[in-house]
Amino acid sequence: MRLSRFFLPVLKETPSDAEIISHQLMLRAGMIRQQSAGIYTWLPLGWKVLQKIEQIVREEQNRAGAVEMLMPTLQSADLWRESGRYDDYGQEMLRITDRKKRDMLYGPTNEEMITDIFRSYCRSYKDVPKLLYHIQWKFRDEIRPRFGVMRGREFLMKDTYSFDTDEAAARKSYNRMFIAYLNTFTRLGLKAVPMRADTGPIGGDLSHEFIVLAETGESEVFCHADLVEMGAPGASVDFDGDLQPLVDQRTALYAATEEMHDPAAFAAVPKHRQLSARGIEVGHIFNFGTKYSEPMKANLTHPDGQDRPVHMGSYGVGVSRLFGAIIEAHHDEKGCIWPDSVAPFDLGIINMRAGDGACDSACDGAYASLVAAGLDPLYDDTDNRAGAKFATADLIGLPYQLVVGPRGLKEGKVEVKIRRSGETHELSLEDAVARLA
Ligand code: ATP
Ligand code: MG
Ligand code: MG
Ligand code: MG
Repeated sequence: MRLSRFFLPVLKETPSDAEIISHQLMLRAGMIRQQSAGIYTWLPLGWKVLQKIEQIVREEQNRAGAVEMLMPTLQSADLWRESGRYDDYGQEMLRITDRKKRDMLYGPTNEEMITDIFRSYCRSYKDVPKLLYHIQWKFRDEIRPRFGVMRGREFLMKDTYSFDTDEAAARKSYNRMFIAYLNTFTRLGLKAVPMRADTGPIGGDLSHEFIVLAETGESEVFCHADLVEMGAPGASVDFDGDLQPLVDQRTALYAATEEMHDPAAFAAVPKHRQLSARGIEVGHIFNFGTKYSEPMKANLTHPDGQDRPVHMGSYGVGVSRLFGAIIEAHHDEKGCIWPDSVAPFDLGIINMRAGDGACDSACDGAYASLVAAGLDPLYDDTDNRAGAKFATADLIGLPYQLVVGPRGLKEGKVEVKIRRSGETHELSLEDAVARLA
């Protein structure tokens, strides 16, 4: 992509209403634009990143055996009346009436809808286990939307739902998601710690929030410091095998959100490993048994001929919230520093003197070779000053920059800069292209 053709409305000033760095950088780097409180347009650069995050989330869901589908954003209120949540949900639910005076709502989550879909087709123990998910926009009329996309009103969520015959089988589905989440967040360049979370009125111990530690996080959390450094199991995990030991390894150490915090248990953690911090909830997994299947009559016929409600769980990832969390974890005073996995472009090509014959032809050639090698470069071919180009490149935070200037070219050299370390290498154009490709 040539920058002259792209749409990158960078801002010179930091918008005064943006309190945290990720929100400031997303606005300044022309990645999002607020349309109403908590409702954003994803501008081209931001949209590219969001799609990359979404794709990693998707790949890890698929790897864990979940099956993708797509449910609508608008739902009928009747389904929510069946579960009893239509009245309970309160003001966070955006309620809509259509022209026939039917009560509709913009889905804040999809337990009711997926339960309805499941019960329409599945009646037998042979129809499970199933893990179904979608990645769809949600709406919650948050009382205080803030921090940009971290707490939006309209936001993108990946939500998976599991269906099993009984508690023991449901636990296996839960473990699949638990491990898939660790792998997902690691690929996104994040250290997310699973923490015991409140299961509300249903009880049980099967709920974890995945928390990225950050000073700007809205949750107060307490954990054993070793959990932060514990790596993810990785792509080689056999999801059909026994995942319990991997899960146990990570749930044996103390980790709890504020609501679940037990100061006495925390005190048993060695003093120098006690970590109390703030964090961002990027995912939440929850086993809720028959909470929805019972009132909504989603039953399975078991081998003994008896009908029993299907056991369910739900597993959410805040895809758009992750965008902010990644910037919170990866930036410096100049701007974003994208992990390679989610960078909007693979690298930037900076033509320090557009219009200069040698610079133009070197850049055009490098651009063509890198594209031919399968890379997606952003080529700054504009006639802005070199200083402004550098500032923009650092602000948008592509992992690598290929800098081409008239002086270097005279000696047959260009520069490759690594955004994260600031390291630069002088190389011939051919070597630079070979190194980046
Ligand atoms: P929070 O405690 O931040 O309000 P939640 O517990 O209400 O979140 P869940 O119902 O668990 O959220 O939804 C699953 C995931 O969706 C959350 O873990 C979070 O990453 C994301 N999410 C929830 N609300 C928002 C929001 N307003 N904006 C962006 N992402 C959100
Ligand atoms: Mg909430
Ligand atoms: Mg929460
Ligand atoms: Mg939650």
